Amino acid sequence: MVKYLFVMLSFCGFVACGSGAQQSSATDVQQSEKESKKEVKIKSKFNKDTAFAFLKKQCDFGPRVPNSAAQKACASYLAAELKRFGAEVTVQEAKVKAYDGTMLDMKNVIGCFQPEKQDRIIFFTHWDSRPYCDNDDNKDNHNKPVMAANDGASGTAVLLELARLMQQEAPNVGVDIVFLDVEDYGAPSFAKGQYKDDWCLGTQYWGAHPHYTYKPKYGILLDMVGGRDPLFAIDIVSQQYAGFVVNKVWSIAGSLGYGNTFVYREGGNIMDDHYYINKLTQIPTMDIIDFKEGRGFPDTWHTANDTPENIDPNTLQMVGDVVVTTVYRE
Ligand SMILES: [Zn+2]
Repeated sequence: MVKYLFVMLSFCGFVACGSGAQQSSATDVQQSEKESKKEVKIKSKFNKDTAFAFLKKQCDFGPRVPNSAAQKACASYLAAELKRFGAEVTVQEAKVKAYDGTMLDMKNVIGCFQPEKQDRIIFFTHWDSRPYCDNDDNKDNHNKPVMAANDGASGTAVLLELARLMQQEAPNVGVDIVFLDVEDYGAPSFAKGQYKDDWCLGTQYWGAHPHYTYKPKYGILLDMVGGRDPLFAIDIVSQQYAGFVVNKVWSIAGSLGYGNTFVYREGGNIMDDHYYINKLTQIPTMDIIDFKEGRGFPDTWHTANDTPENIDPNTLQMVGDVVVTTVYRE
């Protein structure tokens, strides 16, 4: 994941700040609470072991850095998995320019489930690995790629498990899954110079060339959803652009007993893929991202420790339950 700009500490400040198009109201919250109590019967349940296996498999290719053999192999794997689970699959390929002028082969892997349905929702996550462990305490690691078990493979794993469940039991709503590439190739902390829009290159490309025929009514982005002792709070971009989705998702999390992890308070001003998605496509899109006041992103973020050993499958389970319930309640 990318970066945060600043953190506003008070919840009051947060509410006063949410002046965007999707300001939440008491009615929205009541509506969300009603929805979260809706009876939903799902035959198949999200399985954290299967999800962890999807995560491990991606890491077994090695760091999925753009232009690497691991990137190519993993893109084929992701496309094949989505196809196996019944999606109509497209791989959006293009050359994009990195902050340092390097031309990168970008591969956004997209799966459409029940493409004939006009009523649709969309999920996003980035699947690429950052080429620099530039947040590592050991400077020798700064030019080494991140394994990206959490920051890349975790969201992808949760959405592959969702795809597997949707093949067993189709939801009422059409679902698009977008695995975004070249999210994490932004200028490293040791680079000199000022750069603009150097992160989320796959997302910026997708936003300019969206794949859909029927525009999804809202979107959910997952980023770093497999760490230990996580905290999912509400970032400012999500609240401003997609307040009604935030209310829906957080009340579902509460109804599942995850209210201590999905806390209803502000979680910083985070520049992630959802910023570009909201700006470029106007699909109200929120982010589920692990960010804690004081700590910031997980300790493994952009370090050599972002490996499968530091993943907690119970976190995948929590996020997976929330995602699956959201889909099948539509
Ligand atoms: Zn990252």
